[in-house]
Amino acid sequence: MLSKEKDIFNVLFEAVSEGVVVVNEQQNIVSVNSSIDKMFGYNPEELVNKPLNVLIPSTYHAGHGAHFKGFMKNKEKRQMGNGRELYGARKNGDVFPLEAGLNPFKIYGETFVMALVVDISVRKQQEEEINKLNEGLEKKVQERTKELSTTVNELKVVNLELDSENHKRIQAENKIKDALKKEKELNELKTKFLSLVSHEFKTPLSGILTSTMLLGKYKLAEQQEKRDKHLEIITNKVHYLNNILNDFLSVEKLETGKINYKFHTFKLSKVVDEVIYNANMLLKGGQKINYPENIDDISLTQDEKTVELALSNLLNNAIKYSPENTDINIHIQQDKTHTFIKVKDNGIGIPKADQKNIFNRYFRAENALLTEGTGIGLNIIKSHLKNLGGTISFKSKEGVGSTFTMKIINKAK
Ligand code: ADP
Repeated sequence: MLSKEKDIFNVLFEAVSEGVVVVNEQQNIVSVNSSIDKMFGYNPEELVNKPLNVLIPSTYHAGHGAHFKGFMKNKEKRQMGNGRELYGARKNGDVFPLEAGLNPFKIYGETFVMALVVDISVRKQQEEEINKLNEGLEKKVQERTKELSTTVNELKVVNLELDSENHKRIQAENKIKDALKKEKELNELKTKFLSLVSHEFKTPLSGILTSTMLLGKYKLAEQQEKRDKHLEIITNKVHYLNNILNDFLSVEKLETGKINYKFHTFKLSKVVDEVIYNANMLLKGGQKINYPENIDDISLTQDEKTVELALSNLLNNAIKYSPENTDINIHIQQDKTHTFIKVKDNGIGIPKADQKNIFNRYFRAENALLTEGTGIGLNIIKSHLKNLGGTISFKSKEGVGSTFTMKIINKAK
């Protein structure tokens, strides 16, 4: 090289900021720029003719030799390392990370390799710091996530506890509400009873009083007919009052669950006769009860008193809600399991709008309000029959008449 060209080469060689090291095929250093000297801690010219290995930590020497040979075979310009971390050794023995790009070239028939070397220890250090910071951050995130999930789990538990507390509270509230409702109903029942007693008992009682007063006045023997009439009036009113009292007693017993049904086997005809005998006293002029006479073979194993009460209530209603000169028909039928008792009248009937409420306690249809009554009877029959495994239903047309049907199980347990 001419000295002028050599100067230009040297200027270029020194101008690049990377370290430049040129080695020959024997891996001896031919030339380095001052960046290399500074990077590896050598004086100028100190590295020339030294083996390349002086720049490489001794632990990598063997490996590096093999790599160099491989590279010389292909002689391609490429980045050194290929994914491996590269290290350089300073004169004082310090080892530092570096990056190197390899450029083979030929001059005067000889092959050289020029390596461009960058000290990356600062970058590595920064990377490490960033990694450390990242790790710290990740750890913190993990810790926070863990804390959060613990809090969430705790919240879930608290939530569950609150839920069950709430559930218990609602249950307790409902219990109290039920108890209050029962008490209210009982109070209403008592109030109703008192007002009914004062209303319903007043008329028959004053009737009884009048009749007894008159009875005392008819002292002559020929006035026996008049005495009988008043005695009949008194008997009727007493019966009526007795029925109301029985109804109330039934309500009370049904309400408090104090009913004791007594089951035994009896002939239905006996009950029917008894009920009709009593009902006959209540008949209006020209009213007639038709009932089957051939029912001697029909027996029931039931609570006789309840069956009697139910039938007598139905029959009394039929009489009460029918005008004079009408017939009332009782129809009885029995199959293997049940007995059907029908009471049919040709009376005032039940208005369609009132039919859905007819079994409600105290309910009275709007066309029945001028007739005396308490609105208890049907409600009692329904409750009793339900207890005894039976049902009650009806068909009715206002102004035409009604038919009530009881279905009673033949053998109660
Ligand atoms: P009460 O007859 O004392 O009012 P019930 O419970 O026996 O009470 O009957 C309830 C209501 O059903 C009666 O007020 C009446 O409106 C209606 N009712 C019952 N039976 C008959 C019937 N045979 N014909 C017409 N309406 C009836």
